[in-house]
Amino acid sequence: MSGHTDSQLFLGHPKGLVTLFFTEMWERMSYYGMRALLVLFMTGGLTGFNPGLGWSQIEAQAIYGIYVGLVYFMVVPGGWLADNLLGHQKAVLYGAVVIALGHLVLAVPINETFFLGLALVVLGTGLLKGNISTIVGRLYENQGMEDKRDAGYTIFYMSINIGSTIGFVVCGYLGEKVGWHWGFGAAAVGMLLGVVSYIRYRHLLGDAGLLPNTHGEGVKERLVLKSVLLAVFMLIGAGLIISGVVTISPRDFAENFAYFLTAVAAIYFVYLYFFAGLEPEEQRKILLLLLLFVAAAAFWSGFDQSGGSLNIFARDFTDLNFFGFEIPVSWVQVFNPIMVIIFAPMFAAFWAYLAKRNLDPSYPTKFVGGVVLMALSFGVMLVAVSLALQTGTVGVQWLLITYLLQTWGELTLSPIGLSAFSKYSPKKYTGQMFGLWFLASAIGGVLAGILGGDAMDSGLRSMSPTFTYMIQYYAVIAVAILGLAWVINKVQSRNST
Ligand code: GLN
Repeated sequence: MSGHTDSQLFLGHPKGLVTLFFTEMWERMSYYGMRALLVLFMTGGLTGFNPGLGWSQIEAQAIYGIYVGLVYFMVVPGGWLADNLLGHQKAVLYGAVVIALGHLVLAVPINETFFLGLALVVLGTGLLKGNISTIVGRLYENQGMEDKRDAGYTIFYMSINIGSTIGFVVCGYLGEKVGWHWGFGAAAVGMLLGVVSYIRYRHLLGDAGLLPNTHGEGVKERLVLKSVLLAVFMLIGAGLIISGVVTISPRDFAENFAYFLTAVAAIYFVYLYFFAGLEPEEQRKILLLLLLFVAAAAFWSGFDQSGGSLNIFARDFTDLNFFGFEIPVSWVQVFNPIMVIIFAPMFAAFWAYLAKRNLDPSYPTKFVGGVVLMALSFGVMLVAVSLALQTGTVGVQWLLITYLLQTWGELTLSPIGLSAFSKYSPKKYTGQMFGLWFLASAIGGVLAGILGGDAMDSGLRSMSPTFTYMIQYYAVIAVAILGLAWVINKVQSRNST
C-alpha cells in the first residue's frame, strides 16, 4: 500500500505517529524514572526512613549494567518474535503490559521479588522498544512518505526525552523523598497510561507493522515450538539465578555478558558481510554501520553511567541544596533529556544548514564527534573529582557541563544512528538491523555497569583512574574509526575507477 489521504495525516505526518509518540513517551517515563532510582536503591543504607538494599558499589553497578544490557539485548529476540510470529503492533502491546507488570512488582515493598520485577521490565522492553521504532519507519513507508522519515524519527526522539524528563522528576521525587517503592509505583502508573493510550489509539497505525511475515506450511508451528523451548530454557536459567540455587557474582556475570554480546555482534557482522549475499555497495554500507556500532557502544558505555557512577557522584559528592531544599539526587539526570529537547531542533537545523552548503560532515566524522564529546565530558568529571578531593563536595554545575557535552554527543550520534540503520540496512534485514543497533546500547550498558563499579569502588580515589582510562579508550576508538573510514573510502574509490 502506498500513498495517503489528508485524513491520515496530522501536521504533515502519519497520524499513527501520535499513537507511537505517547506510548514511547510513557514507556521511557517508566524506564528512566525507575533506572534513576535503581543504583540509589541498591546501594542505599539498610536503615533510615527509606531503607535500601545496602549492596556494595561493585555489585550494584554490575547489576545495573546487566539490567541495562539485558533490556537492550532483548530487543533482538523481541524483533524476531514480532517479525515472525506476532507482528510489531501486538508485540508493542504485550511488551507494554509486561513492563507495567514489572514496575508493579517493584512497587510492592518486598525485596525478594526485586529481580522478578526487573526481569519483567527486561522482557517487556525487549518486546516494545525495537518494534515501536520499526513501526515508525513502516508508517512512512506505507504512506509513501520516506522523505519525511528522518523528521519522524526526530519527533519520536522528542517523545523519548519528554517521557524521561517526566520520569526523572516524578519517580525521582517520590522514590527518594517518599519511599523507593512509591517511585517504582509511579513508573507503573506511567506505563499503564501508555498501555491505555496505545489501546485507545492503536487503530491510527493502520496496517503498519500489523502482520508478521508469512510462512509456508508448518513453518509457523516450528517457529512457535522453537521460541517456546528457548523461553522455557531462559526462564529456567533466570529462575535458578534469581532463586539463588546457582550463585554467580554479578561482576563476573557482567563481564561474561559483555564478551557474549560482543561475540554475538561480531558474528552477526561477519555473517552479513561475507555470507548474506550482499552486493559490494551493500557490503560497504555494512562496514559503515560497523563503525557506527563501535562508536555507539563506546558512547553508551559513558552515557549510561548517568544512572550509575555519576548518580552516586551526585549523591555523595555534589551539593544539591538549593535555597534550603535538597533536590532529589535523580533530578540531576534530567539535564540530559531537557537539553536534548532544547538542542535537538538546533542540531537538526545546523546539519541542514551545512548540508545545503555541501559541508555536511560524513557519517564517520559524526560518529567520532559523538565519541570525542563523550571523552570531553569525562574530562570535565576529572576536574570535578579533583576539586571534590580537596573540598569534599562540588557544585552541581560540573555535572551540568558533563551532561551538556554528553547531550551534544548524543545528538551528533544517536539520531543519525537510527536513521542510518534504517536506511543503510539491506532491505530484507531491516527488522533485525534495529536489533543490531540496540545491541550497541546493550554492550554500552553492561560496560557502563562494569566501569561504574570500578569508578566507585573506593569513592573519589577510584574515579580518576577509571575516567582517565575511558578517555584513553575513546581516543583510540576515535582514531581507529577515522582510519578505517579512510581505508573504506580509498578501497571504494579504487573499485569505482
Ligand atoms: N535515550 C535513547 C532512548 O532511551 C537512547 C538510549 C540508548 O539507545 N541507549 O531511547
